[in-house]
Amino acid sequence: MADIQTIVVLTGAGISAESGLATFRGPEGLWEGRRVEEICTPEALFADRELVLDFYDQRRRALATVEPNAGHRALAWLDQHWPGELLIVTQNVDDLHERAGAQRVLHMHGELLSALCSACGARGGFAGDMIGGPRCAVCGQDALRPDIVFFGEMPYEMERIEALLTRADLFVSIGTSGAVYPAAGFVQGARQAGADTLELNLEPSAGSHHFHETRIGPASVLVPAWVEELIAEG
Ligand SMILES: [Zn+2]
Repeated sequence: MADIQTIVVLTGAGISAESGLATFRGPEGLWEGRRVEEICTPEALFADRELVLDFYDQRRRALATVEPNAGHRALAWLDQHWPGELLIVTQNVDDLHERAGAQRVLHMHGELLSALCSACGARGGFAGDMIGGPRCAVCGQDALRPDIVFFGEMPYEMERIEALLTRADLFVSIGTSGAVYPAAGFVQGARQAGADTLELNLEPSAGSHHFHETRIGPASVLVPAWVEELIAEG
């Protein structure tokens, strides 16, 4: 693996779960008696805006209670030291990669710390609560929503991700279920284009058989070990 230059890393809930970030799902996958899949939709935002904003306000507040873990820190270190092309594509909406020091991060499902105006499409950094929060700074309407890709919406920057996957020498998936498309298809795209593929996960995922190699364990242990190995080989 001496010829690796372009690396695409995909991260999912597994890496943030180790920082103690709750998924807000109870034992039956419910939040305040409702299925999360029914809250995080454009229809729910229209029908019950307060409920949807409250859900994300609570998740945004929870960010203050967690810290990046060794998995985030190892990826940030790699980002800072890798001389080739690298992109950390994350399905997570938290800011733990950034707080660990990573810069080449793409939030394909959006970010808790960003707001999107339903009226004019402006987006920008956001802190605090949206319930009782500010109006859009650009158009003045009371129409800010979380800048989050809801169920039924298209993930961000798919063209950029797919273009990079076709050039990747190495694709690494960390802490993802391998069950949610389109991210679940990244491994097949990268592999068809000739990349080596590696999965680091707490348990075998739905897509494990697509990878050249799967390592089972916590991200806080597996990611630092992999980064060390990668640097030693390079
Ligand atoms: Zn606006």
